[in-house]
Amino acid sequence: DQTVREIAAGEVVERPASVVKELVENALDAGADRVAVAVENGGIDGVRVRDDGAGMPPEQLPKAVAKHATSKLGGVDDLDSGVATLGFRGEALHTVGAVAELTVRSRPPAADAGAELTVNHGDEGTVEPAGCPVGTTVEVRDLFGETPARRKFLGTPATEFDRINAVVSAYALANPDVAVSLEHGGREVFASNGDGHLRSAVLAVYGREVAESMVDVDRGAEASGDSNEGGEGTVSVSGLVSHPETTRAGREYLTTFVNGRWVRESDLRGAVVDAYGGQLAPDRYPFAALFVDVPADAVDVNVHPRKTEVRFDDDAGVVGSVHEAVREALLDHGL
Ligand code: ADP
Ligand code: MG
Repeated sequence: DQTVREIAAGEVVERPASVVKELVENALDAGADRVAVAVENGGIDGVRVRDDGAGMPPEQLPKAVAKHATSKLGGVDDLDSGVATLGFRGEALHTVGAVAELTVRSRPPAADAGAELTVNHGDEGTVEPAGCPVGTTVEVRDLFGETPARRKFLGTPATEFDRINAVVSAYALANPDVAVSLEHGGREVFASNGDGHLRSAVLAVYGREVAESMVDVDRGAEASGDSNEGGEGTVSVSGLVSHPETTRAGREYLTTFVNGRWVRESDLRGAVVDAYGGQLAPDRYPFAALFVDVPADAVDVNVHPRKTEVRFDDDAGVVGSVHEAVREALLDHGL
């Protein structure tokens, strides 16, 4: 299969943050209400993701870590539908097991007990009974421990942790109905409450001052741009953006999602920044958690495992909609 060949194993897992991303996506796919991420030393020494989702029966554990094994709709031939189901089909756990010590411990809700399976740098153990709560816990240790050439490319623990924090923060913001928490070296970094409100998730992730400065953006679907030939579709923009005086030096707090997927797309970020006009201090950027929704056929989502890029049929129209939506929101608040 061409698509599968395109995905060289090493492409999926580049650093601790990519491990975290895959494990969190799996937890969300499993319908978890709670996802708890705990990492040690920037994730270099260990990553653990615990969820209370659907779990797996013991006999499914070997399948979960097998190459190209997915239980998800569409299978490996259906990467394009990755917009609906997160994750890279059947690659993540297998790849992590090949380059680290991976333990998957799981218990479906109806089962009395759980089971676990460890894969140690490609060496698969046997399924053993394990006491565990309902859901799944995945632990990853000794990442790249036997591939020093790749370990060498990791940054400092602080750098690697920043990347993990960005990933887990984005998923917390994108899923306000899921309680997402992050712990580093036993210290809680943040914990959202899963009450379904974006503002609560922002409070957890960015803190009170930022949350209180946020204004609502809510622009319903309208024709995208003036070239509406062929029913190009509509764009809706919603979420929260910060007061022009509540800013940071970097753009990384300007989080944008397209059709629910986190996208670090510079055009969208630029559109948000532009909407503030001259109100931002030089080299300062607002906070944002902004959801842009377009019809599925009006966007090309490239779900490369390490980055997500989007290309809109009508890029100018989408950028214009985001700009107007943020501008309107600021004006509504006298800003
Ligand atoms: P994919 O997510 O693309 O299917 P993965 O390698 O990430 O591939 O996971 C393989 C399989 O393991 C999944 O299809 C799913 O059946 C199972 N799995 C992984 N993580 C979890 C989890 N947290 N809860 C339930 N099942 C899981
Ligand atoms: Mg997955």
